[in-house]
Amino acid sequence: MRQCTATAEVPLTELLIAILAGQKRVTDSDLAYAPDTVRCELGVWHEDGHAAFVWDWEKHKPREGLWARWTPDGTMRFESLTWCGIPGSPDGDDACTLYLDHAREHSWKVRDPELEAFSRRVFAENAGLIARLTRKRN
Ligand SMILES: [Zn+2]
Ligand SMILES: [Zn+2]
Repeated sequence: MRQCTATAEVPLTELLIAILAGQKRVTDSDLAYAPDTVRCELGVWHEDGHAAFVWDWEKHKPREGLWARWTPDGTMRFESLTWCGIPGSPDGDDACTLYLDHAREHSWKVRDPELEAFSRRVFAENAGLIARLTRKRN
């Protein structure tokens, strides 16, 4: 399944307020991790609003992350949501990185065609180098 292509600008002041509501303080270096724009992480043609992860809480909330959710008209709100975490394989290597009860498929079933095309191109352009780096030394 393809990833939704909706993007949105993140209102930084409102994001900061949402972060401060969930944790006591924010440093400048923390804020370097706050995104200016987000892209919806759900599978395409989903119901509900668009959603993108924006903030990892300090250690006190390991089971939740802060998510931006927005409607097609661009109205954005921030919500702390529990991780979905459903494993994609029996050994649990690739747990779903979306929130609990998200619309559509789990993250390990959602693919980004642009990103895949990009990584294929990078691989093709650097095939010689990659072969050299991965060649066994014996
Ligand atoms: Zn979306
Ligand atoms: Zn999931």
